[in-house]
Amino acid sequence: MTSTLATTRTKRIMSGMRPTGRLHLGHYFGVLINWVRFQNEYESFFSIVDWHALTTKYQNVAEIKKNIFEIALDWLAAGIDPEVSTIYVQSGVPEIAELHLLLSMITQQNWVEREPTLKDMVRMLAQDEAEAREKATYGLLGYPVLMSADILAFKGELVPVGKDQESHLEFARDLARKFNNLYGVDYFPEPKPEFTSTPLLKGIDGQKMGKSYNNDIKLADTADDTTKQVLKMVTDRTRIARTDPGHVDLCEVPWPMYLIFASDIKEQVKDECESAAIGCVDCKKRLAAHMNDYLRPMRERREKLERNPDELMKILEHGNMKARKVAGQTLKGVREIMGLIDWRGAQ
Ligand code: SF4
Repeated sequence: MTSTLATTRTKRIMSGMRPTGRLHLGHYFGVLINWVRFQNEYESFFSIVDWHALTTKYQNVAEIKKNIFEIALDWLAAGIDPEVSTIYVQSGVPEIAELHLLLSMITQQNWVEREPTLKDMVRMLAQDEAEAREKATYGLLGYPVLMSADILAFKGELVPVGKDQESHLEFARDLARKFNNLYGVDYFPEPKPEFTSTPLLKGIDGQKMGKSYNNDIKLADTADDTTKQVLKMVTDRTRIARTDPGHVDLCEVPWPMYLIFASDIKEQVKDECESAAIGCVDCKKRLAAHMNDYLRPMRERREKLERNPDELMKILEHGNMKARKVAGQTLKGVREIMGLIDWRGAQ
């Protein structure tokens, strides 16, 4: 099966996530669902980018290792197939670090300094000027070069990104173009964005869903925890009494969730809501049941893998090996183009 796909999928796609903890529904519908679709269309490389986590969390590393496994479990549970896609950990592929170093030689200082997302990141992370100076490390400044190395190591042609990530990808394109022009080669493809339409998934309080806002529902949550969270969802704020008719258009969270998880019964929900045939509590209990039905197969897959850490480790080691092979080939060419001796080849 793998070899058939490998021969029919021509373009390469590369994407990654920082290991910051268990993933929530926003990640699933915003990113993972697209990756699952892409993996059958493109040769796919999905990276758990732990070095990127260090660029901002170098003072607080306790959770990184645990989160690498959490994120891998979530990916596999969501349907990323390690037989079809290459799932690997960035630090398990040292070729990326070498490519980062080599690319940094041709990266102008003002390119990294002008990155708008970098300035935002420092502003977000720091309380004051002194802390901003501490946070703005050499590693963080090099973040876009590292991200370029992530993509170019696999000669990724397509990178699924949200609109907010566009500038980082532009950086990788500029760097690929500069490398090709500087050395008179056509070595790196200029990676193109594959914009993913991310439905803005609201957290239970009606704000953007996010782990730090404590308003999320995680893929790994139990059915009971999910039901508890759903029951806290903000509904139609104008509906005060149980007998008041509701308005689905004003229903902040449950209604949009119905459209995702149970769109087949949307007419029924609308009728019952607007005629006050159902109260919000019962309506949310029904929604929770639909959500739990949808999420059950993923949760079962996750639990099974969680009970088998050796298997998970094998998947990651195998992915690292596959990724190293491809990145190693890319690097061999880069060393040659940049006039270096391939010492590994000489051994
Ligand atoms: Fe929302 Fe359902 Fe309440 Fe209507 S009945 S406002 S759809 S939770």
